[in-house]
Amino acid sequence: MWRAKGKNNTIQLSFKYRIYPTKEVEEKFLKVMQIEAKVYNALLDAVNNARKEGRKITPEDTQDMLKGLKIDGKDLVYSKALQMVNNQLWYNINALHELKRKGKKVGKLRHKKIMKIINYNQSGFKVEGDKLILSKIGEMRVLFHRPLEGKVKGVIIKKSATGWYAVFQVEVEKKHLDKAGKVVGVDLGVDKLVTTSDGVVLENPKVFDKVERGMKILQRSLSRKKRGSRNYEKVREKLVKLHEHAKNLMSDFIHKVTSWLVEQYDEVYVEDLDVKEMVEDSESKTLRKHILHSNLSRFMSYLSYKAERAGRRVVKVNPAYTSKTCARCGYVKKDLSLADRVFACPNCGWSIDRDYNASLNILHTGSGLPLEPVDRRPLLYIPFSEGVYSKFPGRSRKSPSRGGDAPS
Ligand SMILES: [Zn+2]
Repeated sequence: MWRAKGKNNTIQLSFKYRIYPTKEVEEKFLKVMQIEAKVYNALLDAVNNARKEGRKITPEDTQDMLKGLKIDGKDLVYSKALQMVNNQLWYNINALHELKRKGKKVGKLRHKKIMKIINYNQSGFKVEGDKLILSKIGEMRVLFHRPLEGKVKGVIIKKSATGWYAVFQVEVEKKHLDKAGKVVGVDLGVDKLVTTSDGVVLENPKVFDKVERGMKILQRSLSRKKRGSRNYEKVREKLVKLHEHAKNLMSDFIHKVTSWLVEQYDEVYVEDLDVKEMVEDSESKTLRKHILHSNLSRFMSYLSYKAERAGRRVVKVNPAYTSKTCARCGYVKKDLSLADRVFACPNCGWSIDRDYNASLNILHTGSGLPLEPVDRRPLLYIPFSEGVYSKFPGRSRKSPSRGGDAPS
């Protein structure tokens, strides 16, 4: 799910759902995508020719050309979708310029055989129950695995390896929540997804162990098959589906966790992931870690838009030393390795779960509060299977004044 800048009181989100077009509709999709590609190529030629002749040409110029283009089947494409092809072309042109400007070596834009999307912007679509109806195409069933919220501004049809998808671009009203009176530091990880400064641990789904085993078996099997053979394709398809299954499971889990955080806390302090990723990159080699890593950025994007919508704050904290600092006395233990799951402070003798210690430091660093002794509360583990939104704990300390018994 992406989000773009919204107007004052709304934010824009996109919701992706699987759709089930009939054979007939699917053929129309493919046909439209091919025609769109021809339009794209014609406009690209026009731009290239104009530049060759030293004429200035703008997106408005090429948009005006759409009407006059003689392309077989052009009438089968919804007019607004055609305009979006023009937008796509100029988006690509600008992106290429930007790369060039940055000194990157870039090629030329190429002709396309098929466009990857059909973009219904602002009009030409209708949602009725679980059906999506598109102008010039027809209707299809949508699997609304999460409710579609807000006012639909556009629909993008996409084909992926596993099937067809509709991405609904919606505008959602901000709904500010009442103050919760609590703030929290959150450590994100690849083993435990979330450890909070309130001592709550949300583990990454164990299902990944299974998924990883499955993937290894399939990959081994794939390597023994002849590339392009029927059996090869069969196994490859299974692999893609397994990937997608894992992604959907995780996505759902992340939605629940981020909703819970936003509801419970006025401010959520998290590590700045870009930096953390660089710091820990060397250890993220395995497939499992690779999958989980991509979840961290999804986590951030969900958390950010939900917080914005609810009038909460997400504060990114520099992750330097959040793991290596003792949250009790401030001593920096430089030789703490990634394998050390417990932080044992040589200065004050405190011994504490590594990630919990980090979450406390994230809260300290982010909120600017001085280091204070914290209690050694037992961590509350919530396994994935119980990671149901309603079961998440409400317990928490009142912050920012964070007292607690000093540890022995
Ligand atoms: Zn210490």
